[in-house]
Amino acid sequence: MPASDSSTLPLVKFTNLTRANEIGANCYLLEFDGEARVILDAGMHPRKEGEEATPNLGLLGERPADALIVSHAHHDHIGALPLFLRRNEKMPVYLSEATSLLAEPLLHNSVEVMLKQRAQFGIASYPLFTHKEVDRSAKSYRICRAGQECSIAEDSDSNGRPLTFRFYPGGHILGAVGVRFRYGDRRILYSGDVSFQEQTIMPAADFPLDGIDTLIIEATRGAKETPDHQRRPMEVERLISAIEATFRRGGAVLIPVFALGKTQELLATIHLEQKAGRLRRCPITIGGLSRSFTQIYDRLAKRSFRRHPGLSLLEDVAPSVLDGRSVRQLSPRPGELYLISSGMMTERTLSNILAQRFLSDERHSIFIVGYCDPNSPAGQLLQTSRGNLVALDSEQPPQPLLCEVEQFDLTSHAIREDLLAYILRVNPRLCVLVHGDAPALAWFQERLREERPGLEVIVPPPGETLEL
Ligand SMILES: [Zn+2]
Ligand SMILES: [Zn+2]
Repeated sequence: MPASDSSTLPLVKFTNLTRANEIGANCYLLEFDGEARVILDAGMHPRKEGEEATPNLGLLGERPADALIVSHAHHDHIGALPLFLRRNEKMPVYLSEATSLLAEPLLHNSVEVMLKQRAQFGIASYPLFTHKEVDRSAKSYRICRAGQECSIAEDSDSNGRPLTFRFYPGGHILGAVGVRFRYGDRRILYSGDVSFQEQTIMPAADFPLDGIDTLIIEATRGAKETPDHQRRPMEVERLISAIEATFRRGGAVLIPVFALGKTQELLATIHLEQKAGRLRRCPITIGGLSRSFTQIYDRLAKRSFRRHPGLSLLEDVAPSVLDGRSVRQLSPRPGELYLISSGMMTERTLSNILAQRFLSDERHSIFIVGYCDPNSPAGQLLQTSRGNLVALDSEQPPQPLLCEVEQFDLTSHAIREDLLAYILRVNPRLCVLVHGDAPALAWFQERLREERPGLEVIVPPPGETLEL
């Protein structure tokens, strides 16, 4: 049965502040009976430039929002935060402790990247915000603990209804949360990015199941089936054997990874596999930004929602750190492992530069462990057969691909089977699908129509205000 009778429910409006229905970036507005206004996430599009990459701030109008809630510290959820605070510096930003700490290196790094892009490509609007604004943002942070009921309006609005919210661990990366709002009889849950399977460091999400009338839920993996034999433990086993096989033939392994989340998961996975004797000990190299994030994982090891609280990645794994200068001199050494960002091997990032030294040696391997846009250099690499030419850098001539290239599914997003099961278990009145490309959204719409015909499913068009 639906959670509540819709005719008695207070009105909540939803506006998609992103510029397209796609994986892209995340930013949404919730309005509670025309009173409190809450922004969910402040993401920057990872593959667009300038204003096109930012949320559509113009849709907010003149009226300031009462709060902004950040689900986690990935760029596509927090990368535009200083722009919102520039409009409204008094607005409180609610986040978990881990997200508040991870935000700092992430946003400062964004300023650096934008400064470089301004110099290289002449993008006049860059940087979109400054280091000073990043520092100032931190003053607006209000830390909330998972499970604690937090209040947005001081007491209640003029309708006499308090608006409160509560964080639930999302399992995706350190500090990731889903947010459940409570307003009169309404219970609305925004998932952020979620994983219902445990990873090496992150436990599975611990989301509520009862009484939710509206789910605003990510659909990232909607287009991808995950059969039982491709679940994470099997994929880890396959990756470890592939690394070991590369070392045995005298090669080195490059794994392009996102600096936040995937790097720390892999450091922990490799370490535990080595301890268990399934992989030989080997020197490991990571990037400088990854090191900053790893430090925060270590600092919060004992007091955050995570597994292996006794594991200190920087001490126990002791990775070397590579920077923009040292990568120029580096040639891959046999028996060594490089966990280097960016995950999609974007041009001019360390993983892209390093990969060009792996391509022509058949002993080496490049292993892709996360989502890759087919148009990204990593996506291009995956589509190239051994022996054919591939161009990882548009300013360099194509090179023959002779090293091994393989893909492993070590996702930190919920597989679609789990997302569907969660939606059906919660059985809301309304399901709003976000953060997915067209085929992913279509799969959920189709399956939910079949499984639960009475459930209203919405793909919110950008810029339109909908009544939930
Ligand atoms: Zn994320
Ligand atoms: Zn995301």
